[in-house]
Amino acid sequence: MFIKSHIVPVLLIFYLLASSYDDPYKTQRERMVKNQIEARGIKDEATLKAMKDVQRHLFVSKDLRENAYDDRPLPIGYGQTISQPYIVGYMTELIHPKPGKKVLEIGTGSGYQAAVLAEIVDKVYTIEIITELTNSASKLLKELGYKNIEVKNADGYYGWKEHAPFDAIVVTAASEYIPPPLIEQLMDGGKMVIPVGSPFLTQNLMLVEKSGGKITTKNLLPVRFVPLKRGND
Ligand code: SAH
Repeated sequence: MFIKSHIVPVLLIFYLLASSYDDPYKTQRERMVKNQIEARGIKDEATLKAMKDVQRHLFVSKDLRENAYDDRPLPIGYGQTISQPYIVGYMTELIHPKPGKKVLEIGTGSGYQAAVLAEIVDKVYTIEIITELTNSASKLLKELGYKNIEVKNADGYYGWKEHAPFDAIVVTAASEYIPPPLIEQLMDGGKMVIPVGSPFLTQNLMLVEKSGGKITTKNLLPVRFVPLKRGND
């Protein structure tokens, strides 16, 4: 009798302790998704689930972990930043991520956006220009078990021709104009999301769509991204 009535709460406490040890930021992350992402209109179930699942605190340095779920971008070293959670959710939802799709990301940074995408789509190719960030993101994504992400150290302006065309392209650094190689590597019916504008001012987040070989663009919202570096920047 004693065993029967007590085993359930004991097991429950054990389970809660074990899971909070495993993932101490689960509650903060769920709150982030609810208050910052869902509350601002992101509805795509796959995007919301991916953002609940990916442990954002692992993508920032240890001293910033407590801030990983704040409503803002955070520094990741080398003058670069991991985007605000809402922007990651917004850009992810915009490209209509689905299993079976192949996505190119420009600006791997911490690897967080790539991980969120890789939770949903079949394959993510991501390019980072800073060698140290390429190496650290690549190592982390491997440790976390992502087998469907390929990271390359290169100038993302040129895209990744060998794997083109892509169902979607997500550019996470600001460019003065849409790089023509990226337009070329977008599949017909594909979507690209890119911040366009002066690197030192507010830029416009743009949705670029290709349909029947025709390109249409739409301005979505003002954003601030770090600049897309070129050549010897
Ligand atoms: N998506 C990232 C945030 C990226 S910040 C994340 O989830 O953490 C923008 C990144 O773009 C920086 O890491 C910067 O080094 C990189 N970048 C800038 N210019 C680039 C270029 N021409 N090609 C590839 N990456 C570039």
